[in-house]
Amino acid sequence: VSSAEILEVIQGSLAETHGLKPGDHIVSINGRTLRDILDYQFCVADNHLVLELVHESERRFVRIENPGFESLGLRFATSLFDGIKTCANKCVFCFIDQLPPGMRDAVYVKDDDFRLSFLYGNFVTLTNMRDDDIDRIIDDRLSPLYVSIHATNPELRARMLGRKKTDTTLERLKRLSDADIELHIQMVMCPGLNDKRELDGSIEYLANGYDGITSVGLVPVGLTGYRQGLYPLRSFEKQEIIELVEQAGVWQDKFESEKGSAWLYIADEFYITGGFELPPSQHYGDYPQIENGIGLSRLFVDEAADMLDSIPEDEHSSDNTTPESRIASVTGELFAPILSEIAQTLAHKTGVVIDVIPVRNSYFGGKVNVTGLLTGSDIVTGVEAWLENHTRPDIVLVPDIVLNADGLLLDGYTPEKVEKEIGAAVHITECSGSGFVDKVMEIVKK
Ligand code: SF4
Repeated sequence: VSSAEILEVIQGSLAETHGLKPGDHIVSINGRTLRDILDYQFCVADNHLVLELVHESERRFVRIENPGFESLGLRFATSLFDGIKTCANKCVFCFIDQLPPGMRDAVYVKDDDFRLSFLYGNFVTLTNMRDDDIDRIIDDRLSPLYVSIHATNPELRARMLGRKKTDTTLERLKRLSDADIELHIQMVMCPGLNDKRELDGSIEYLANGYDGITSVGLVPVGLTGYRQGLYPLRSFEKQEIIELVEQAGVWQDKFESEKGSAWLYIADEFYITGGFELPPSQHYGDYPQIENGIGLSRLFVDEAADMLDSIPEDEHSSDNTTPESRIASVTGELFAPILSEIAQTLAHKTGVVIDVIPVRNSYFGGKVNVTGLLTGSDIVTGVEAWLENHTRPDIVLVPDIVLNADGLLLDGYTPEKVEKEIGAAVHITECSGSGFVDKVMEIVKK
């Protein structure tokens, strides 16, 4: 039987005044067992609560009257009390299958859990679900959901998902759509598989008859250097990317006039690698595919531009900075040209040297070039290589996106270890346009 393990009890909360403690397990509330945090939230929306608790095999019941529907003040060890649902696929492009060995166990978990989709925007395939899971989504209005489809041609989808038989995903999608569950679709684009005519077919299919689909996002397959024995995949050539962006552009124009939004969105990486300008913010509307990273670059640039506008030119004065003040920011190779432009404007306004150090991802190898997957050793190697032709900065900015919840980089490095090895102070910056400009201004004003 699943139970909710209490991790933290907020001081002064109802839970604390009723004697709940970290390590207690809630087995049921008002007789209802709890599968996950969603069940918990439904159950506590009552003003008379009877909690069944177990602590080290001792069972007790706690009655809480909550006329004001206050939060009980509990934090749990996990959101999924009955365990995570893992995937039933063997996708040809699976990123987890291409991870280097020796990372933390949690990184290798192939989650495919609709509750994580609702709670955190994780993409799910719907292939491991039972009919009562679909009923629950509809009854409990777990909307929006984020669904990976990749292709609507059943044979192609089965091949891409590494399944022997075709699945019932589209029927399930239809049920959800007809029940007004808001759906955001992801297609991982693999050259020679689901692009070109297959892509047109998929878009046409999804755009007709699935009113619940609010957006479709196309993202490029990510290929690391650890693909031995896996399905032979390659990344897109630049010319193919140009064609894909143009092909998608025709659909976007059509949907703009028919649906009032682009509806189909393409990954920032496609625009940047294809040499296209990033679309303006109006294109993204309320950024429906931000969970997929689509539009993050536009947001970053616009936020930085807004901040830069508010910095007067005349702050370029020597009394608030020393002439030898040098700042450098590390970033992935993909984003480096965009960040460099922002850094140049900022340097011009502040009088501080702000360099951008594009860091190559050796840890994952292959074609991985995004900032979020940079490791401590990559940063150290990247900075050292860059120093061969540049002056050592006083401060190196590292975006927080490379840190996990424990403050560690993917390879277990701490920011302090990076700092020691590169011989410059490391400052962690929020990975956003305003975060970047704010951090530089904070350093400049010191
Ligand atoms: S659904 Fe596919 S891509 Fe996702 S974890 Fe499973 S095998 Fe990997």
